[in-house]
Amino acid sequence: MAETGYRTRFAPSPTGPLHLGHAFSALTAQGRAHAARGQMLLRIEDIDTTRARPAWETRIFDDLAWLGLDWPRPVLRQSDRLPAYDAALARLAGMGLTYPCRCRRADIRAALSAPQAGATVQGPDGPVYPGTCRARPMEAAAPDDAIRLNMAAALAHLGPKLRGFTETGPAQAGVHTLCAAQMIDGVGDIVLARRDIGSSYHLAVVVDDAHQGITEVVRGADLFDATQIHVLLQDLLDLPTPAYHHHRLITDAAGRRLAKRDDARALATYRAEGATPADIRRMVGL
Ligand code: GLU
Repeated sequence: MAETGYRTRFAPSPTGPLHLGHAFSALTAQGRAHAARGQMLLRIEDIDTTRARPAWETRIFDDLAWLGLDWPRPVLRQSDRLPAYDAALARLAGMGLTYPCRCRRADIRAALSAPQAGATVQGPDGPVYPGTCRARPMEAAAPDDAIRLNMAAALAHLGPKLRGFTETGPAQAGVHTLCAAQMIDGVGDIVLARRDIGSSYHLAVVVDDAHQGITEVVRGADLFDATQIHVLLQDLLDLPTPAYHHHRLITDAAGRRLAKRDDARALATYRAEGATPADIRRMVGL
């Protein structure tokens, strides 16, 4: 069958075993690629060297192949792409939109709980950063500083007409346009690069989705709030915005997200107990 321009990806982080939620995500991505006569790529998101392990990567390939998935080789590994993320960061820095931040988690907590601080808002990455280091120039950056995006400056750079994205997932289907007030108050100055990792997840995912020509991002609804960050970064970096398909999350009988549970059962455990790929599909409601 001829391939169309549709291209999506499954992008696991090799920091633990795949569980039912991952299986659902990968099967959904493959199903959509198949229906569109397009492609599903596999991308290994292993920039967090404090947690990623090659042994997990091997097990991911094995589990996905067992599920009946196939993907083009070679697979893109984010750990091979650090120069591309550095270039994107340098571009944003060159636009005057970044600053070095020396706050540790405890400093941020203390600033947010100070008597004059307003109510703490939870953003996609945790509490919205209070802006303590915002006035520091990039020239003052120490090697172990994080680099943040100055959100107000980024919005001023883009002007009043912010980009939107098309959501194709069932829960919030339609066109979503970014809202400047929400980006400032509800997202804030996100981290673009971390002292221990280099590029942040947000920057890496945006650079790679463009590099790989992804036309639709298929991923869990837990990442819906991160998508506005990705669309903003795409706009700043002149990269295309794909469509987004956020799918439901697989929960246990009590409605708790599987990924959040320490005892979430690995696909490998079901396999060892004799489950078939068809059983897994049934378990996730496919
Ligand atoms: N690597 C991310 C995860 O395993 C997924 C990123 C994405 O789909 O954008 O949660």
